[in-house]
Amino acid sequence: MSYLVLARKYRPETFEKVVGQEPIARTLQNALKTGRLAHAYLFTGPRGVGKTSMARILAKALQCETGPTPTPCLQCARCKAVAASHDLDVIEIDGASNRGIENIRDLRESVRYAATGGKYKVYIVDEVHQITQDAFNAFLKTLEEPPPHVVFVFATTEPRKVPETIRSRCQEFEFRRISDAAIAAHLRDVCAGEKFELEAGLDAAIARRARGGLRDALSLLDQLAAFGGGAIRHESFQELTGFLAPDRVRELFDALLARDAGAALTWVAGALDRGAAAADLIDQWLDHLRALLHRRSASPRPPELPGVAGEALAKQAAALDDAQLLGSMQVLIEARRALRDLEDERLVLEMAVVELARIAELPSLRDALAQLPAGVSSNAPARATAPPPSPRAPPPPPRAPASLAAPPATAAAPAATPAAAPAAAPSAAAPVATTPPADLPARFQQLVAALMSESPSLAVQLGGFVPLREAEGVVEVAPKAGQALPPPSARLDEATRRIARRLFGAPWVVRPVAAPRDAASAAGRAPGAGEVARTRALEQIRDVFGGETVAGDPGA
Ligand SMILES: [Zn+2]
Repeated sequence: MSYLVLARKYRPETFEKVVGQEPIARTLQNALKTGRLAHAYLFTGPRGVGKTSMARILAKALQCETGPTPTPCLQCARCKAVAASHDLDVIEIDGASNRGIENIRDLRESVRYAATGGKYKVYIVDEVHQITQDAFNAFLKTLEEPPPHVVFVFATTEPRKVPETIRSRCQEFEFRRISDAAIAAHLRDVCAGEKFELEAGLDAAIARRARGGLRDALSLLDQLAAFGGGAIRHESFQELTGFLAPDRVRELFDALLARDAGAALTWVAGALDRGAAAADLIDQWLDHLRALLHRRSASPRPPELPGVAGEALAKQAAALDDAQLLGSMQVLIEARRALRDLEDERLVLEMAVVELARIAELPSLRDALAQLPAGVSSNAPARATAPPPSPRAPPPPPRAPASLAAPPATAAAPAATPAAAPAAAPSAAAPVATTPPADLPARFQQLVAALMSESPSLAVQLGGFVPLREAEGVVEVAPKAGQALPPPSARLDEATRRIARRLFGAPWVVRPVAAPRDAASAAGRAPGAGEVARTRALEQIRDVFGGETVAGDPGA
C-alpha cells in the first residue's frame, strides 16, 4: 500500500472541517440551504489554504444523493465518487496545462451535455489566471449564459490576472492565510491521529514556518515524521529547515545588547553557512523580540521560546526600553521588506544587525538625558535655550517615555525672546553666532529623544552623530567614531527640521562634517579612522542629508 501524504489523508470532507475558512464555509452552506447558488465562483487566496478542498466539498454538496445539501452524507455512491475523484460530472481542470483556446473550446462543448448521472456538472478550474486572453474570450459567452445544471468553481492565487469580464460574472471568495493557532491545532490533531510523538512548542514552530498555508505545514510534518521515524523533534526541524534553536537566537541578542556588532556579524555568517534562509532568520529575530516585548508589558501569556531560560529573557527585556524594542522590530520589518527587492540576503541581514546594535547603544543617550535639566538651566544663557514664546507651541510629545521626555527646566527661564520676534529668530537675535558648546549636546539629544517617540529608526540614525556647533539654524555634526552610516534619508532631514522647529522655535538643518580632532575627543572618542576613510564617510553622510557642500572642512 502506497503511503498517502498527510495533506491528502487529512483533506477535509465537510464544510465544518475546513481549517481557518469558516466564514466562506458558512456562506456556501447558507446558499445551499436556501437554493441561492451562483453559477460561477471564484476562490482567491494564497496556496495551500483550502481553495480546492472547498471546491470539492461544494461539488459533493451538489452531487450527494440527498443534495443539494449543506451537509453531504459522505456515504452515498455520489459522495464517495467525488471524494475519490471518480465522479464523471465533477471535472477538475488545471488551468496551467489547459490554458489555450483549444482546451477552452473542448470545455465549452462538454458543458452543453447533460450530467451523466448527477444533478449538476461541476467544473473546478485551478490556477485559472493561467488561461490565455483568447481562451477567456472564447469562454465568456458560456459564462454569461451557462446551462442551468452547470456550476463553475475557479481557483487562483493571482486574482488580478483574471480578466475583469470573468471576475464580474463570478461570486468571489477571498481565502485568508490560516492563523498560526489554527494550523498548530490541526497539526496536533494530525499527530494524535497518526500517533506521532510531537515535542512541545514544535506545533507553533511548524505553523509559523508555513506562513498561513496548511498544506505546507502538513508537507513539512510529513518530512519530519519520515526523518525522525514518527518522532517530530526540534532537532530534525532545525536540521531540515535551517531554523536555529531559539537559544542560538538568544545568543545573538546577548551580543547585540553587549553592543558587539562584530560578534553579531559572525553569528549571521554562521547561520547562513548552515543553510538558514534569510526570511526565516528575520522571523526568528522578530519572534525573539516579541517575546521580550511581552515580558516588558507583563503579558499574562508571553510567547514561548522552547529551550530558552526564563531568566535570560528577563535580563534582556530589562536591558531594553519599549522604544528600543519597537525600533528594533521596525528595523527588522523593513529588512524583511528589503529582502524582496535585494538579491543580496547577506547584506540585508548584516545591515539589520548592525542597526540593532546601534539601537542597543541608546541607553547611554537616555542616561545623558536623565542628567540634563540641571546642566541646562545653570550653564546656558536663557536666550539660547528658551522655548518659543508662542502660546501655540505644543508641549513635549506625550508618547515619549518619561526618561526621554524633553526637560521642562527651560520653561522657567525669565528673559524669553519678545513675543514679536519673527520666525527667523536666529538672524533677528543679533550675532547668534554659536550656541555655547555646553548647551548644544543637550539640545541635540533632546531632539533625538523627541524623534525617538516618532520614529525610532530615524532617531537611531541621528543618534549616530555628535553635534559640533550651531550657527544660524545650521547644526554641524560629525559621525561617532566607528559608526556604520545609515542609508540616505530625506525623511530624516524633514524630521529634524520639523521637530527642531517645535522644540526650539526654528528649524535645524543638520549638516554633517568630518570630525575635527579636538571635537571628537571632546565627545569622548578619538577619531580612529584614517583620512581616506573619513573622506569617504563624509561623502556618504552628505548623501544622507541631501548632498550639501561643506566649506572649510575643519578635518581636512
Ligand atoms: Zn452523499
